[in-house]
Amino acid sequence: MDENVKFVVKKRVEKTIENLKKNNMKACFVEDEKGVIEKIKELLNDEDTVAVGGSMTLFETGVIDLLRDGNYNFLDRYEEGLKPEDVKEIYRKSFSADAYFSSSNAITTEGELYNVDGRGNRVSAMIYGPDKVIVVAGVNKIVKDLDDAIKRNREIAAPANTKRLDMNTPCKEVGYCMDCSSEQRICSDYVVMGKQLIKDRVHVIIVNKDLGY
Ligand code: SF4
Repeated sequence: MDENVKFVVKKRVEKTIENLKKNNMKACFVEDEKGVIEKIKELLNDEDTVAVGGSMTLFETGVIDLLRDGNYNFLDRYEEGLKPEDVKEIYRKSFSADAYFSSSNAITTEGELYNVDGRGNRVSAMIYGPDKVIVVAGVNKIVKDLDDAIKRNREIAAPANTKRLDMNTPCKEVGYCMDCSSEQRICSDYVVMGKQLIKDRVHVIIVNKDLGY
């Protein structure tokens, strides 16, 4: 990355972290996947029950492998052979996990997390239930404000996710949101996490890389 671009990104990250902290969320900046894994090991205890929301970032950074291979009780929604009723059970059990992992569709420099879900299992666990929520996100997820967060979801995150999930939605064809009424629409629940009542329940790990959507 060009030195001047690096400087601008760093400034944006600093402001974001400062405002996440003002909003009662813990936040830190790490260089790479190794930094993510080290930070997560610090945050977890042996035999913790852990669960995840749908996220490419968690795969890309090796978090899913860590949860599978480590000494944790992982409620693994991705395990092969699960039936839909098993996945539903995992979603419900996730609310009582010691730690819940997710990325975020966008993080504003004003210190907010913005997420859109189809089923709502991820955003609801982020809001309430697990004792700890650990959000891992690349610098590409940082946007100026909520308007830009909404735009990011409509123009990048949601269309890319419909492509990944092979959903029959117009955004998959044109590359941006068409406010569809498709039966396979993945956008149902729009959640902004602002200043948190429970201080330091949410931990945000910002990674100096482009990750996920
Ligand atoms: S509302 Fe429909 S068209 Fe818009 S991003 Fe969501 S799935 Fe795509």
